[in-house]
Amino acid sequence: MAPAELNKLNKLLDKDSVRIVLTTHKNPDGDAIGSVLALYGYLRSRGFNNVECIVPDAYPSFLAWLPNNDVIYVFENDSDYCNELIKQADIIFSLDYNAFHRTGIMEESLTKASGKKVLIDHHLEPDSCFDISYSKIDTSSTAELIYNFIESNQNTHLITKAIAEALYVGIMTDTGSFSYSCNYEKTYHIVAHLIKLGIDSEKIHQLIYNTFTENRLRLLGYCLSERLTVLKEKRTAYIYLTKEDLNRFNYQTGDTEGVVNYALSIEDIEIAALFTERDDLIRISLRSKGDFSVNDFARKYFDGGGHKRAAGGNSYESMQNTLKRFEEKIRTSL
Ligand code: 5GP
Ligand code: MN
Repeated sequence: MAPAELNKLNKLLDKDSVRIVLTTHKNPDGDAIGSVLALYGYLRSRGFNNVECIVPDAYPSFLAWLPNNDVIYVFENDSDYCNELIKQADIIFSLDYNAFHRTGIMEESLTKASGKKVLIDHHLEPDSCFDISYSKIDTSSTAELIYNFIESNQNTHLITKAIAEALYVGIMTDTGSFSYSCNYEKTYHIVAHLIKLGIDSEKIHQLIYNTFTENRLRLLGYCLSERLTVLKEKRTAYIYLTKEDLNRFNYQTGDTEGVVNYALSIEDIEIAALFTERDDLIRISLRSKGDFSVNDFARKYFDGGGHKRAAGGNSYESMQNTLKRFEEKIRTSL
């Protein structure tokens, strides 16, 4: 972490009594929840007593074993209380997202808040609204940046096993179990340290990836056998799921995590997409394994963004029109 940012942040954290709120993006994933809980654990072990964690909406059940996850407030379920916490906060941390609109229903509350705003994130093009910004693109995850922050303060001795597990979950899930965004020496030094601190990496892998319900696995099978379209000459493959499909398999939050990667696993396919119908819009997950920037594509055509090789977007048209538009835009973008 750059000394200037670190100094500014340490100045904000000069009293144990400061009221701190930790936030992350909507549809929180492993890095979002891992980063929140790691920073929570660290600040608590430094003696801060007023630390609250607020996420916009529900997170997948495969993250619910993480130590201390019961301290997390879900804004959607408790909006008045969460609003009050945000209003009263002296410091608000924005973890794993680059602009307040990424928090969905929390956006207004965060924009209006008078507390100091601190960004710790690894997405492209961070918003300029933050008072302190620790934004680094060439890293595995936000969890890695949390570790760097702790390390910059020479406080790695405060990393408990619970904090180490949260950090590991962030790094492991945001790199697809060390298969992308992880060609960095530092990432492995950190992981080595976390293992030294007692995490059981095999157990964590089992808890995150091998806890499917039968419905979730059958939904995956359905995606692959019935809902996969391959545009071979465009090196693109996509999967779509309607609300009916989701109901048929009793969809639970997190059940479509990772599905888009199967489309990308086809030989010679470089762009993959998953379209999921929600109540008010179509969510799009985009991945690439070549030079194609899905971040640019999502920003330009689908009201989204993210990273070069993993991005998300939204469409406000019907599924049919969305797929048609997607195919058109792919055709003209290649
Ligand atoms: P996922 O497909 O897993 O939902 O998202 C992939 C990546 O793109 C994540 O890093 C996520 O933060 C980012 N992302 C997902 N949806 C959006 C969006 O609507 N806007 C922006 N700016 N980024 C997104
Ligand atoms: Mn992340």
